[in-house]
Amino acid sequence: MDIKKVMVIGAGQMGSGIAQVHAMAGVEVYLHDLKDDFVQRGMNTITKNLSRQVEKGRMEEAEKEAILARITPSTDLNNAKHVDLVVEAAVENMEIKSNLFSQLDEIAPSHAILATNTSSLPITEIAAATKRPEQVIGMHFMNPVPVMKLVEIIRGLATTDEVYNAIEDMSKKLGKIPVEVNDFPGFVSNRILMPMINEAIYTVFEGVATPEAVDEVMKLGMNHPMGPLTLADFIGLDTCLYIMETLHEGFGDDKYRPCPLLRKYVKAGWLGKKSGRGFYQYN
Ligand code: NAD
Repeated sequence: MDIKKVMVIGAGQMGSGIAQVHAMAGVEVYLHDLKDDFVQRGMNTITKNLSRQVEKGRMEEAEKEAILARITPSTDLNNAKHVDLVVEAAVENMEIKSNLFSQLDEIAPSHAILATNTSSLPITEIAAATKRPEQVIGMHFMNPVPVMKLVEIIRGLATTDEVYNAIEDMSKKLGKIPVEVNDFPGFVSNRILMPMINEAIYTVFEGVATPEAVDEVMKLGMNHPMGPLTLADFIGLDTCLYIMETLHEGFGDDKYRPCPLLRKYVKAGWLGKKSGRGFYQYN
């Protein structure tokens, strides 16, 4: 299947990166969000990323302009009628995603693939909101998208081989390395990563160590490039909480219980780097 035009839904940290890598691979992209301001924030992030590449001499100014010209800002979901693939990267919430997928099913052409960048939610359940579950698939990028090589590809119960192959080919075209996993809460990446982050939050909550100490131990002792609390701030504490709740509910096992401190921070609006404060403070 030839994917020429894509819509990325959600112009946040993930959506802007996903739009950028598609445009860099020569694909026409709509970058869609609820408000102009949100789309503009995403466009600014992409422009800043590309300008950095130009400054470092890794990209010509003309190439940067050509990439930006391939991205069309959108606040009208009806633009999905022009695309071959939708990659949804709105917030990690089943109701919002199901709602979007049921609308997209009505709007997008019948051949279009509807992919979700969900971190943990069941692909099969998202697919059930549509009348084309065989064309719904998980395409899970890592943060920051332009840098990280992995794309976890998750089939729903009904996803066809043709759709799987199209997404695998697309991921390779984006310069990524696809890995196939099955549809289970948190897939592989977040089933392993998020309980570690949650446990790191518990060590702070229980007064075992400061956030700085926890991160130092994991960096120096385990050779992790970044400590788990720095990573949690980077991912977004709201996203971390959504994922822990999905694991907790999906497995029905209390070992996935989100740490109360994580809940408290999210309630306070301390969402990590994107809100200026989480376990650390950002300017
Ligand atoms: P974010 O908060 O930075 O961005 C989410 C964007 O979605 C916001 O701009 C918001 O306005 C928009 N949005 C919300 N509802 C919408 C709707 N109905 N229609 C259109 N836009 C809508 O979040 P993020 O970190 O970019 O995460 C997005 C998705 O990617 C989530 O499902 C998350 O689990 C997943 N994900 C996140 C990471 C990470 O490290 N942050 C990694 C992999 C996957």
